[in-house]
Amino acid sequence: MDNELRELYQQVILDHNKSPRNFKKLEDANHHAEGHNPLCGDHLDVYLQLENDVVKDISFIGNGCAISKSSASLMTAIIKGKTKDEAEELFGKFHDLVTGKLKNTNEIEALGKLAVFQGVQEFPARVKCASLAWHTLHNALNNKEEKISTE
Ligand code: ZN
Repeated sequence: MDNELRELYQQVILDHNKSPRNFKKLEDANHHAEGHNPLCGDHLDVYLQLENDVVKDISFIGNGCAISKSSASLMTAIIKGKTKDEAEELFGKFHDLVTGKLKNTNEIEALGKLAVFQGVQEFPARVKCASLAWHTLHNALNNKEEKISTE
């Protein structure tokens, strides 16, 4: 990766860390999961409003390093409006990207801004930071939140 590209990637990560997108608790969420990366101390809550297997809305809150926070922020921006299957497919692609298994340049380019996390494959401890939000999303997609009913 050339230096110019690396710098651009760093800017995206810093921007999303400083002003994370969809950083709030979603009041009408019907799916929720909590994610924790004890290795770094990252902690995230992901909220989903899932309707007919489409992510109508998504948000997150939490504390963590710049990598985990910016990854969660970019993820929420990209996942909004996607179907459950599309979200799971992106999770797989993202996981392959950060673990260095995705080598095809066209496939990497197709990931758009998510490609900024390509660099973490050089830092194994950071792979967990970058993928925490996605693992949490995966759990949220598959766990329906128990809501207390007053009926
Ligand atoms: Zn971290």
